[in-house]
Order: sequence, then C-alpha cells, then structure tokens
Amino acid sequence: MNTDHIAIPGPSVGTQHALTLMRFGKTGARPQVYIQAALHADEIPGMACAIVLRRRLESLERGGALRGEVVLVPVANPVGLAQAVLGSEIGRFDLASGVNFNREHAALGEALVERVRAALTMDRDKNTVLVREALADLIAALPAQTPAEHLKKALLAMAAQADIVLDLHCDAEAVVHLYTTSHSAGTFAPLAARLRALAYLIADVSGGDPFDEALSRPWAELAAAIPDKPVALGCHATTVELRGQNDVSSALAEADATAILAFLQDVGVLAGQADPAPDALCEATPLAASEPIVCPVGGVLTFRHDVGATLRAGEPVADVTDPISGAVTTIPSPCDGVLFARVMGRFTRPGRRLGKVAGRVAHRTGKLLGA
Ligand SMILES: [Zn+2]
Repeated sequence: MNTDHIAIPGPSVGTQHALTLMRFGKTGARPQVYIQAALHADEIPGMACAIVLRRRLESLERGGALRGEVVLVPVANPVGLAQAVLGSEIGRFDLASGVNFNREHAALGEALVERVRAALTMDRDKNTVLVREALADLIAALPAQTPAEHLKKALLAMAAQADIVLDLHCDAEAVVHLYTTSHSAGTFAPLAARLRALAYLIADVSGGDPFDEALSRPWAELAAAIPDKPVALGCHATTVELRGQNDVSSALAEADATAILAFLQDVGVLAGQADPAPDALCEATPLAASEPIVCPVGGVLTFRHDVGATLRAGEPVADVTDPISGAVTTIPSPCDGVLFARVMGRFTRPGRRLGKVAGRVAHRTGKLLGA
C-alpha cells in the first residue's frame, strides 16, 4: 500500500487540511477502482467499511491478488469533519457557504466535447486515454478558492482517472440503497445485490450535480455528442448509501466490505472468482419515481413503519401529534413502493420531508435529490 497526502488550504491563515489516499496494486494498473467514504463528513458507516477494506486490501495485496488498482480515501471530507456547532458535527454542508458537499460538482461534459472533438480517432481504447487526459486538464483548470472548492477539485481529479467509482454515504435512517445512471445500472447491479439493497435509483441527470454524476456524465455526453467516434463510458460511478447514520457496527462494516470486495472480483480488480451475486432484493427504479413524504403540520412524529417496509399509496406511514391541542394528523405514503429512508428527529415542522419512498412510476421533474 502506498499512502499519499493532498493538502487542502484551510479557511484562514495558519490552517490546512489534508486528504489521505491509499493505493493498492500497481500504480496505473487497470481496471482502477476509486472508493471514498464520508463525503458528507459525519456519515460514518462508509468510514467504518473503509477501515475494514484497508485491512483486507493490504492482506490481499500481500497475497498478490491485486490485478488492477484500488484507490481508497477513508475520510473524503476533512473540511466538513472539522466542523462542529455546539457539540454537533455538521458534515453535510460547508458552513462557510451553505453548499452541500455532494452538490454543485463541476459539469465538464460540454468543455470535454469541445476539447477532444478534433482529436478523437476510430480507436476506442486510445480515445479513453485521450479523454482521461483531457478530464485531468479540465479539472486542473477549475477555479478553487475556498476549502470546499479545493476539496471538490482534489476529489474529482483523483476519481476521474478511475474506471469505477464507489462514493460511500449513508442517509438519516435507511436501508441500503444506491444511485447511478442508466448507463451504469448494469455495472452496479451485482453490487446492489451483494449489498442487499432495497432500492436502486436511476437518473441520468438528477439536477444537483452530485459527485458520481460529475464523473460519469461527461463520458455519456461525449458519446452522445460525437456518435460517429467510438467512445466508451470510461468511468462508472455510483453513490452507495450504507443505511442510516447510526448503523455503525463491526458486523455491518465487515459484511459491507465483503460485498464490495466480491464486487471488485466481479469487475476484475481482484483475482479470483467471487461466489455468484445473490438474487437482487429490488429492481432498478427511476429516481424520478422516488417520492418524498412531506409533512404538512408540526408536532411529535411517530412512524407506523420501519425503513424497508413496502407501502401502498395512501397507506398511513406516520402520525404527527400537536402536543398542545392533541390533534393527530396521519401522513399517507405518496405512492406504492419501499420506504427506504426516514428522518432521525421525532419532532417535525410543517413542510419537512419525513422520508422517501422508492416508487416505480416516474413523474417528478427538476431537482430530484433533496437538500
Ligand atoms: Zn451523504
């Protein structure tokens, strides 16, 4: 294992953060898989999984099992991890700007098309190399001033060179679920099955420019813009939500690492044949069919269903009780589907999203991801 550190400038004079990345296998070997944990800094299940991945990858490397290269970043957001307000970690948003660390990543498709249009050939593999070099140049030229901007740029630069990217997150309270694009749904289906995901959410453009899309979309947009040249989808990326914030245990971390390492065998980064992936617990469904459960009133929140429950449209999913009047408002499920995530707090306010249901019929438009 080789370890590298990338300096991230701090918010003011005299401070600095550092990103630590661990490389397993021969530098430059393909396929390359990039795995990062806790882009939303205080999402610990992925970090716990990364601890196990590091230990097992070191052992696999010693045993000569690395065919490609694995790049592991166990703490993807030291900027957010350093944020705390009154004893609570604030990892989802950059406190200085209010921007979500997993939104507003660079959309490089158009610039990529312009940059490589004249240089693409009829050789698909050479085009892949050319596109990776062009992406590296475009990312190097991105403006960055704040720590969050430097962080996003550094993560993007590393991940853009990978064939496969796993961005490990978690939700508030949740079952395992994954997000990816239609172009990569087949690639990650075995991973979703191995992780026993109960929702597999597909969108080509989710509207929020999350990290995974910043990596995969430029390739899809290039292929669409220049259809007469062979362009591979050189980077498949997925956001993997490893349950809820408090679902941290050695047993879960070991099980998730086992699933991910088997997937690394599926894609040829690790030698050997993994056991066949089990039957998927869910099918891929459009992210545009995933419905938030919106609460119209404030009060004490009690759920009638745990995460993972299969709901019918209109079925009561929660009750909100006004603690002064005693009035009870029953909140129905917005659609048929799986309740894959819910909030952690048990006091709610009008307009708050209480959870998410993975439906099958796509009808939402615009920004499909929540805040
Ligand atoms: Zn997250």
